[in-house]
Amino acid sequence: MKSFEKLVRHEGNDTLFRCMEISIVSTAMGVPLHLHAEGLRGTGKSTIMLAARQVLPTIRRVRGCQYNCDPERPHCPEHKDLSRAELLSIGIEEVPMPFLEISHSAKVGTVVGSIDLEELTSGSSKARLLPGTIPMANRGIIFIDEINRLAETSPEIADVLLAAMGTKPGRVKIEETGMKPVEMPVACSVWAASNPDEEPGALEDIRKQLADRFDLTVSMGRPTDPSAIVSILRKEGFAVPLGNQVRENLLRACERGTAEVPQFLDEIVAQLYIMFNLESLRSAEALRHVASVNAALMGRGVASIDDLIAVAQPCLRHRVEMNTLAQIIKYLAELKEGKKQSEVPAGASTTTKAAPRHQQQPASALDRLLSRVKESMESYRAGVTPSAKHSQDSKGGASDSGGGAKKPLDPMTTPLAAPPRVARSIPDLRLDELVRTEEELR
Ligand SMILES: [Zn+2]
Repeated sequence: MKSFEKLVRHEGNDTLFRCMEISIVSTAMGVPLHLHAEGLRGTGKSTIMLAARQVLPTIRRVRGCQYNCDPERPHCPEHKDLSRAELLSIGIEEVPMPFLEISHSAKVGTVVGSIDLEELTSGSSKARLLPGTIPMANRGIIFIDEINRLAETSPEIADVLLAAMGTKPGRVKIEETGMKPVEMPVACSVWAASNPDEEPGALEDIRKQLADRFDLTVSMGRPTDPSAIVSILRKEGFAVPLGNQVRENLLRACERGTAEVPQFLDEIVAQLYIMFNLESLRSAEALRHVASVNAALMGRGVASIDDLIAVAQPCLRHRVEMNTLAQIIKYLAELKEGKKQSEVPAGASTTTKAAPRHQQQPASALDRLLSRVKESMESYRAGVTPSAKHSQDSKGGASDSGGGAKKPLDPMTTPLAAPPRVARSIPDLRLDELVRTEEELR
């Protein structure tokens, strides 16, 4: 495994580093955040993800528990019903956050766990569970390389991942023929890497549902800064040990916990959800949560619009079209600069239609118009039955006919003549030409 110290962080992989840090802090807080890195072979996505296990924080668990039971909230079949005193007598220990890998040759039984049949047949009255990779990675991370290939060759493992990633915490079901299935909650973050340009293609095309389960999707880029390339060629890594710095920063963020999200930020997220037709509330929730963890990583106690801007791309790039994502980021940047209050930007998918020209008059002119309409309606109602609804026709339709003094005109019986002037469309009319009083019509 490559040393974390020797990794070169550049603009092409910086988002992956940041998203891994966000996922680690969130996992330590008990909220799994699933991360998918897409990119060409050689961009180092798997190397970076695997090296991250060197900087993981520790977790406290019930001593020896293979499922990493949190002493405050034990969940495994062995510990969940024990009293506080019983748990304390077993003891509490600090272990590195779990980091396990699911290989392409893995079988469902080894991934979810199985029931030890040998122990049953040997006359024991109690069945013993053999823990699988996913339950053992509880409160930690699971890594899967080339997840697009795995989704094609092992659809049953993809199904297991769907269940484990579907809710937070997710679930695993351990089944054995003829036995009652055992279900267990599991809170682990899934990190996956794939190359959409190689067989069998992008994960999104193979198993869209699985691709959607990832909270963060990162597209790997190449380094463009020559000094970063020189560092890679000379296998130098960073002058300042990156690992220590990252580890310390992670520990501080884990202690600090997620940053507070002020109400105006929630309102902005709600607005993004509506304006840009985000497909699910899940994406709005992910955006909010990830922004808050990002603020904690940056050493701030309160999240800001900068955090939304920083995480919008990995949170949304697999959920919206690319041009919508660009609009969202532009909109957030404009909000930050105070150019926008909270209106809909031009070209957004839910852009309001341009208002007809006569509605763009100042409010006072509109009020005058409305009061004249109201006036006309009242005089109309005074003369005819309320069910009649052709007030416009009875007024504007036959301006040159001499109707009764009080009674409005009946369009069915009113002779119509060509207007004295060339017809114009309604938006071209002046305000006082739109509505005529009975007086003017006569
Ligand atoms: Zn346990």
